[in-house]
Amino acid sequence: MTVLEKGNITIHTENIFPIIKKSLYTDHEIFLRELISNAVDAISKLKMASLAGEVKGELSEPEIVITVDKENKTLSVSDNGIGMTAEEVKKYINQVAFSSAEDFIQKYQKSANDLIGHFGLGFYSAFMVAKKVEIDTLSYKKGAKPVHWSCDGSPEFELSESSRTQIGTTITLTLMDEELEYLEPARIKQLVKTYSDFVSVPIKFENEAINKQRALWKESPQNLTKEDYLEFYRYLYPFQEDPLLWVHLSTDYPFLLNGILYFPKLRPDVDVSKGHIKLFCNQVFVNDHCEEIIPEFLRPLRGVIDSPDIPLNVSRSALTNDRTVRRIADFIAKKIADRLKSLYNENVEEYIHCWQDVGNFIKFGSLKDDKFRKQVEDILIYRTTYKSAETEQKADSGIPTVEVQTEEDIWQDVTPQQKESGSSPSTYEQAGYTTLKAYLERNKDRHENRVFYCTDEATQATYVELYKKQGLEVLFMDSFIDTNYYIPFLEFDYSNVKFSRVDAELDKTLLEQDKSSEIVDPTTNKTRSQQIKELFEKAINKPKVNIRTEALKSDNPQGTPSAMVLLPESMRRLR
Ligand code: ADP
Ligand code: MG
Repeated sequence: MTVLEKGNITIHTENIFPIIKKSLYTDHEIFLRELISNAVDAISKLKMASLAGEVKGELSEPEIVITVDKENKTLSVSDNGIGMTAEEVKKYINQVAFSSAEDFIQKYQKSANDLIGHFGLGFYSAFMVAKKVEIDTLSYKKGAKPVHWSCDGSPEFELSESSRTQIGTTITLTLMDEELEYLEPARIKQLVKTYSDFVSVPIKFENEAINKQRALWKESPQNLTKEDYLEFYRYLYPFQEDPLLWVHLSTDYPFLLNGILYFPKLRPDVDVSKGHIKLFCNQVFVNDHCEEIIPEFLRPLRGVIDSPDIPLNVSRSALTNDRTVRRIADFIAKKIADRLKSLYNENVEEYIHCWQDVGNFIKFGSLKDDKFRKQVEDILIYRTTYKSAETEQKADSGIPTVEVQTEEDIWQDVTPQQKESGSSPSTYEQAGYTTLKAYLERNKDRHENRVFYCTDEATQATYVELYKKQGLEVLFMDSFIDTNYYIPFLEFDYSNVKFSRVDAELDKTLLEQDKSSEIVDPTTNKTRSQQIKELFEKAINKPKVNIRTEALKSDNPQGTPSAMVLLPESMRRLR
């Protein structure tokens, strides 16, 4: 084999290998991502050259092949991409990569552990795990000769002729003894899955493609079905409940960004301090805890964001202040708000159906981000007793016809009469929901700037009944976000409005003694107490409704509100 050239990589490189090895100790595994990314680049360059008519004949199917040789402790990554001529090896491997050695040292040495995924470290990251790196390559260019490059981790390299006949490149690493884990098939598969799952070229290992290849977020939403989105979500977050909604993001100005964000069901046990959105750059995984890029209020969301315009080789603190990053955050927030608003306007039933979870998200977002709050202000709704109150008032005897709502019939039990009612409440009000604004407006004569709310339908049921009987409207603010964060926020935000929990203080002026319990309703021939008893029995038959009458215990310090005496003794202990 003829040695073509021996030399020093550059004059600045003396210290680079120890630095690569030591200062990047946390992230050794990313070397494979870098080699695969280079292989993908080489394959797409060859495709472009072919489209430009520079390549004779058909291209073979693109592929990247990973092989291991345990005996020789080598791992190689082969591609059938563009390849390199000897000149190109000198230019791109010897000079270009190393001409920035000082840069490299400056960038990575100090803040190595603070970087976003050590992204784009490039070819030389191979020296984190290898004591020797070899390149065997043949360029697609006419008359190109195959070349072999080898470097043992000192700043010296050797360039010689090769016997390769296939266009493309093979990078072979002889692993250091403490890095032999990268010879294990399970470890290799895991790394490919983590970082390179969605690159569009098949990555073959032991004769099968081990990456998924299909990056749904890069596809056109028009061509995707609901099932495509759901399946993709299940793939990304296995064993999780299906999401409620999603937003497909796609823009190329003023930055390039694609992504799919899903609204999962928000449960009290969801940790919103950490993000779950996966950040990609050109289909290559960067990380999934990028709190600097995803605005805090979007952290309950899941899915993928892919943007080559997010600067990834700066420190985390620099990212937060980066202009593009801030614009991206605003863009995403606006798209999310638009999606919710269009759902609100176009599909009431679906909106209400999702409200329990989406509502938590909107409230969380409103707490955390003022811009977002303004965008969603008008679509923030509360479940209310208003509908029942309206029905109640219509009944001429004043006898309540209270319905107990379960989760399923919240939006289904709008009666035809209500739809036809002359007062024409909005569709939301027909469905038992209201905005805060509408609530305040509707009740301003009765109790100006006063809101009554219920935080637990089960334990406060009797209070709610009592309010309803008085014709007072009660809002349900009973999610974990409401009680822990959102009510205090509202109290602060609407400083002139008094928010009262139904059971917190019984306003004697509003809640008069109930003397009507024995009045007989002429239409049903039943007394009020009989009717209420039946009502509760109906409620108890519904599996989802619990009635807890804590307040009825005789030691209740607040005394027994009048309506509660209507409950038969036997029911007072029901839960
Ligand atoms: P980057 O990929 O950001 O350009 P790298 O350090 O990863 O930086 O690679 C340096 C250069 O080496 C590439 O730009 C490319 O020209 C060349 N190169 C690396 N790997 C390959 C490969 N598998 N096939 C062809 N050229 C490659
Ligand atoms: Mg690269």
